[in-house]
Amino acid sequence: VAFRTGTFRPLAVSDARLTEGFWGDRQDLNDTAIIPHAAEWMTKLDWVRNFEDAASGLPYSHRGREFADSEVYKIIEAISWEIARGRTDHADLLDRLISSVLAAQEPDGYLHTLFGRAWQRPRYSDFQWGHELYCFGHFLQAAVAHHRATGDERMLRGARALADHVCVMFAPGGLDRVCGHAEIELGLAELWRETGDRRYLDQASVFIERRGTGTIPLHEFGRAFWQDDLKVRDADVLRGHAVRALYLAAGAADVAAETGDDELRSALERQWRQTVARRTYLTGGMGSHHMDEAFGEDFVLPPDRSYCETCAGVASVMFSWRLLLATGEAKYADLIERTLFNVVATSPSNDGHAFFYANTLHQRVTHSLPSLNEDGVVIRGGAAGRQAWFEVSCCPPNVARTLASLGAYVVTESDHAIQIQQFVAGVFQTSSATVRISTDYPRSGTVEIEVDAVTPGTAVHIRIPAWADGARLRRTGDETAPPAGDYALVADVQDGERITLVLPMQPRLSRADDRVDAVRGSLAVERGPEVLALESVDLPEGWPLDEVALASGAAPVERDGSVWVDVVRLPQTDDADWPYARPETTAATRVPASVSLVRYHDWAERGPSTMRVWIPVSGT
Ligand SMILES: [Zn+2]
Repeated sequence: VAFRTGTFRPLAVSDARLTEGFWGDRQDLNDTAIIPHAAEWMTKLDWVRNFEDAASGLPYSHRGREFADSEVYKIIEAISWEIARGRTDHADLLDRLISSVLAAQEPDGYLHTLFGRAWQRPRYSDFQWGHELYCFGHFLQAAVAHHRATGDERMLRGARALADHVCVMFAPGGLDRVCGHAEIELGLAELWRETGDRRYLDQASVFIERRGTGTIPLHEFGRAFWQDDLKVRDADVLRGHAVRALYLAAGAADVAAETGDDELRSALERQWRQTVARRTYLTGGMGSHHMDEAFGEDFVLPPDRSYCETCAGVASVMFSWRLLLATGEAKYADLIERTLFNVVATSPSNDGHAFFYANTLHQRVTHSLPSLNEDGVVIRGGAAGRQAWFEVSCCPPNVARTLASLGAYVVTESDHAIQIQQFVAGVFQTSSATVRISTDYPRSGTVEIEVDAVTPGTAVHIRIPAWADGARLRRTGDETAPPAGDYALVADVQDGERITLVLPMQPRLSRADDRVDAVRGSLAVERGPEVLALESVDLPEGWPLDEVALASGAAPVERDGSVWVDVVRLPQTDDADWPYARPETTAATRVPASVSLVRYHDWAERGPSTMRVWIPVSGT
């Protein structure tokens, strides 16, 4: 995102270089493992060949789902951001992918491998599930990334031709429709930023205003599934399919900011607030329905049915990021951090060759093998452990493009000021200073910020997370205790000055609002930005997870680099017995133990296991 307006301005991906650490290491894993893994699967499953076959002009049978094109675009975007940050290992692959894709583009700019040829369904014959405009949106985002990274015009020219086609076809008075899956809005807004051609922003605005007017045929999931039940500016909360809702909100935030539409912007702020307060899991995950991959009603947040699609996490980061830039409020960066650590980082395995699609907060059974199709890919991405690839493989390439562009989310700037949004080790080039962040956060809470080549009169604002009560901020000869949940101000930084932030990293207990009744009587443990979990492999031999409770009054403690809690086992009555009894009936003898917790993003790395984030508290 290269916001033209707003309170904060982002840095280009090329102006950020992450160094070793939590995110720098994952960015390297992305380069060496995740991107090649994804590209290999797309090639193996012939999703790339769809483009080559389309270019041949001969009949072919399309492989993959309606949105297979978009996965190729997301990997093009990911590799482009890799080049922007100075990694060129996949440059040849990138050129091959772009050549394949562009060869399939038709003379009028249209580009989709499943529709429009004589033996295929006609163009624009399925707005519910066809995903044509959705794929276009990803093409536009990829093209802008490629142009920003390389200056090469090839793909950008293709993007303009495609966007010109869209502007003609879907202008007011033309095809009065919207895509079943929002995304084109984001692509058009970004293309406007890159080219300055106002028609693209205007068309994005047309799609935003058209949504909610009932242009999508009725479906058993209801109009809210496609956010077609209410106009964007009239809604109070996000609803329906979570990724659709969040991409739409992010695209609308682009339009609101860039057109100065304050009414639309405040509607989106309201939706964010209510969605975070009532429809978001502790991990930042969103979406509690498996069947329609959708948001539940307010406070419907069952941990064992949490869907929390990885893409919804990515999309939530995109939505929060745009509101952060527009408004300058720290709470948006807080949610970005929570979601990055507990959804985005959870999806890929340590080796980068397997991914969670859904991110449950409670795994009840050590899962049996998932259903595979004849290509050996998972038919539906439930929570059956991390998997190499899926029929619907939106998540892995979404993780790839997010990790590749992560440098841009760390530091922002405004007139005479720099903001430290995330505590990520690296070097960041702003227009008023070079910022070096050194830290092993979240292992420790110490963050060193060094500023060089400073323009006199520059201030540094440092986000103090809402959980960080007791944070300390030091600069030469001065120590303060900045309030949590806002930016700490360091005025007039001097050239070469070092600022030290110390965040309190003691593990802490968290309880849910009572209306989240699915976890009433349970507590979770967090440490810094990380949610922790109880995983069966850490329990005493023979203890089933569902018989374990937190010892009443137990406080988590940190020991040997892990967080430990006191628990008790509550042996149950015979399985065959009626499981309900008078409340005063007490359970059998409690057996105490101390167990270590796992960082939620690290769970399911040690063989089959069960896991829970919310742990019931034993009665006294
Ligand atoms: Zn996904």
